[in-house]
This record gives sequence, structure tokens and C-alpha cells, in this order.
Amino acid sequence: MLSYPILWDSGVYLPEQQLWLDPRQPRPRAIISHAHSDHVAAHALAYATPATRRLVTHRRPSLGTVEAVPYGEPMTLDRCSFTFHSAGHVLGSAQTLVETDFGRVLYTGDLKTRTGFTSAPAEAVPADVLVLESTFGKPHYRFPDAAEVIASMVDWCRSVLDGHATPVLLGYSLGKGQEILSALAAEGLRIALHPSLFGVTEVYRELGCDFPDHHRLGDPALHPTVVITPPSARRQGLKELVGEFKTAALTGWAMDRSLKDRLEVDAVFPLSDHADFEELCCYAEQVGASLTYTVLGFDEELAMHLRRRGLRAKALGAVDQLRLF
Ligand SMILES: [Zn+2]
Repeated sequence: MLSYPILWDSGVYLPEQQLWLDPRQPRPRAIISHAHSDHVAAHALAYATPATRRLVTHRRPSLGTVEAVPYGEPMTLDRCSFTFHSAGHVLGSAQTLVETDFGRVLYTGDLKTRTGFTSAPAEAVPADVLVLESTFGKPHYRFPDAAEVIASMVDWCRSVLDGHATPVLLGYSLGKGQEILSALAAEGLRIALHPSLFGVTEVYRELGCDFPDHHRLGDPALHPTVVITPPSARRQGLKELVGEFKTAALTGWAMDRSLKDRLEVDAVFPLSDHADFEELCCYAEQVGASLTYTVLGFDEELAMHLRRRGLRAKALGAVDQLRLF
């Protein structure tokens, strides 16, 4: 198989361009695709969209130099140029198209092709080499229609309230929490956000997002009817704040039958900020690259399914292993 000078070492690396994409370790020069912590490190010099820059510095004020590059504006470096395109995953998330002398390399970062409330959906960008995230790269991850999932979630909230308990919806502080909050807009519920989620939501508002009325969990003036909190915070004194409660996890992993028991929650709903399996495959077909490298998640499985659909595809981690041994 034709190979390109692209490497994997806890992040994508273009050695000839000396450019890292989402490395986990601090590097001399890197692109941060979005503000989730597993994509952020304190690099000597990093590039990100203005919204990602604002969100990462909200969460980690002491980060190194992060230069803001708006969507669609080419940035010229000494050995290449790149352009950000919406990735649809969370506010500010970007795909990166790098122009090199061996062709156009498109790195998706975390990707969502459906329309969400707070981020424009990812659109396929033509490229010669695609580096595709594979979080949900197995066939059983096919998410139902989001409007149906949201309707089920609202029905569940109503039934919990009818039983005189407080529904507690679990979603990460950055991205999922704001999507859940927006999904409840039409319901007229009194919504409380965990303080970390409240803080990130304030930054989203500063960046131009509108949300239904909500307040900070623990505000003594208001007893919430619905709580949104990150999964890690649900055991921290919630009962004292809201009394009896029931929990629901909102995640693409809800397609795994065992998830409800594993997380010890009362309900699960498959609401994701990623593309599902079929969307990843269709996306790769639309990009039309002569080679697709899969990274993160079910990379081997997704590469195999892409090959079955007639694409040239390989897990980037596997390429590296072959080089090392
Ligand atoms: Zn992410």
C-alpha cells in the first residue's frame, strides 16, 4: 500500500511539516482541534479556532501560547499551510486541512455530521489523505434520530417528576451539557447546572450561544426540577441539594446493552456528539481520499469496514507499529 509521511505517537504527526495534531504530550508546534481535555496539552505554540482558544484558556489559564485561527482562513507556516473547517462536535471544534507537498491531509478530530444545537455540522472536505476518528467505528453504533431520543429523555424526566423525584441528566461539562440544556428549551423546566457546567455554559453564552433559563446548582433561592451534571459529580452531595433523584446518562455508548448496569444509572439515552458508524463510513466516502488512516477508538475495525466498502484504509497506529518493529 502506498504510504505517506504521517505518524502516530499519542497524536498525529506530520514529520516533514513538523506539525502535531492533537498530541497528548506537550510539543513544539501543534494544532488543538477542540477543547476536550484529552485533546489539549501545554504546547510551546498551538493553533486553535477562536472559540476553542477561549474554552481551553477558561479551563486551563496557564496553557502555553495558543494562536487563534478562524474557520476558513488559511494559515501559512514555514513548511505547509492549513485551514480549519467545522467538525460539528462541540463549539469551536475543527477539522484541519493541511496542504503539503505530498497532497492535502484532512484530520477530522472528533467529528459529528448531524446538526446539533451549538455547533455547525461537519461537512466533507475533499482531501488526498484522510485521518479519521473512529470512536464509534463498529457497526452496532447506529444512533437513532436525535429528536426521538430527546423526546424519550423528556418523557423520562416527566415520569421521574411525577414520582416526586428529581431527574439528573449526566453529560460532560463541555459540549454534551450544553446540548442537553438546549434540548430542554421548550419544556419550561427549572434547570440547574453543576458549577463546572455552569461556568463553561457562561463561556458559550459569551461566544454567542443562546440557552433557556437556568441557574447554578446549589443556588439556595431555587429548587431545581431538572439537574444537569457531569458524570463524575453525581455522587457529590446531590441528595442534600435535590432530595430523591434518578439518573440518566446521555451518550453514544448507550448502544451497548451493558452500559446502564456498568454506570449504575436508572436510564440511558443514545445522544452523542460524535458521528455513528454509518456516518463515519459515508463521511470517508464523501471525502474521496486515496488513503484513509483511522485513529482513536475502534480504528482497526473501522479500517476493515472501510476496506470492505472499497476504500483504501488502515489504522494509523498499526502503521507505526510496523515501522517500529
Ligand atoms: Zn471531544
